[in-house]
Amino acid sequence: MELSGKVAFITGGASGIGKGAAALLAEAGARVAIFDRANEREARAVEQITATGGEALAIDGDVSVPGDVEGAVKAVLARWGRLDIVFANAGINGVWAPLEEITPEEWDRTLAVNLKGTYLTVKYALPALRARGGSIIITSSVNGTRIFSNTGATAYSCSKAAQVAFAKMMAVELGRDNIRVNVICPGAIHTHIGESTTARDLDTVGIPVQYPAGPTPLPEGAGWPREVGHLVRFLASDASRHITGATIYIDGGESLVQG
Ligand code: NAP
Repeated sequence: MELSGKVAFITGGASGIGKGAAALLAEAGARVAIFDRANEREARAVEQITATGGEALAIDGDVSVPGDVEGAVKAVLARWGRLDIVFANAGINGVWAPLEEITPEEWDRTLAVNLKGTYLTVKYALPALRARGGSIIITSSVNGTRIFSNTGATAYSCSKAAQVAFAKMMAVELGRDNIRVNVICPGAIHTHIGESTTARDLDTVGIPVQYPAGPTPLPEGAGWPREVGHLVRFLASDASRHITGATIYIDGGESLVQG
């Protein structure tokens, strides 16, 4: 298997896209550390991997808290002694509302989880990745990069746009250490992200957007976490060894028709 012997650290790995990627990386032979907020989903994600013969570890924490992320990387190294793949994926939709209604605290929380969390994940993983090179994959979104019509999602979209800049800056800085950094931009994917969304008064600022026919050019509509997992698996593996600094859309073509 192409990821045999490798160790992956996945933030937000207990649910949705992170969970789908964790399963795919484990199927490819990687040992997988799932970092997420403590809840029953986290335990289930680990159980599902171990039940199919994989190796997984649950680590509880908040990705916006430096000590939690630093401690998590230490726990991975204590368990497996190496780190090769980092999937900086944890994220929240946060509050979607007209700008005057978004409080400074709500703004900060979205940026803290989505952007600062990405920075902390990469920062604390770097010393271990430098030992033998590796692959970092960051989950951004179509929102803030190609789609700007989800009015009210301003904090979220800004955090997602900044993740793309972050990935490209890191791709240049870390190339000499043979660390690749790529960013993926999913469109609508069936996950639990709705639970981390608060929508307020969007009707006052929204602009109705209609698709020409059906929700995406590809007929199926929203994608599934495992479909994103296949992309993450490819970017994690040596099959993508010449790819860094890339922004890859995985949205069924959604963002080509909804700008
Ligand atoms: P999800 O099902 O809610 O999974 C996200 C996971 O991250 C959850 O387990 C969540 O825990 C965890 N998490 C949230 N805040 C955290 C924190 N501060 N520290 C540690 N873990 C935290 O959502 P998802 O859709 O898979 O989202 C994953 C990524 O994909 C996000 O970055 C999101 O922006 C991006 N994305 C999603 C879509 C989509 O349509 N689903 C589209 C584009 C981009 P809780 O359950 O406790 O919140």
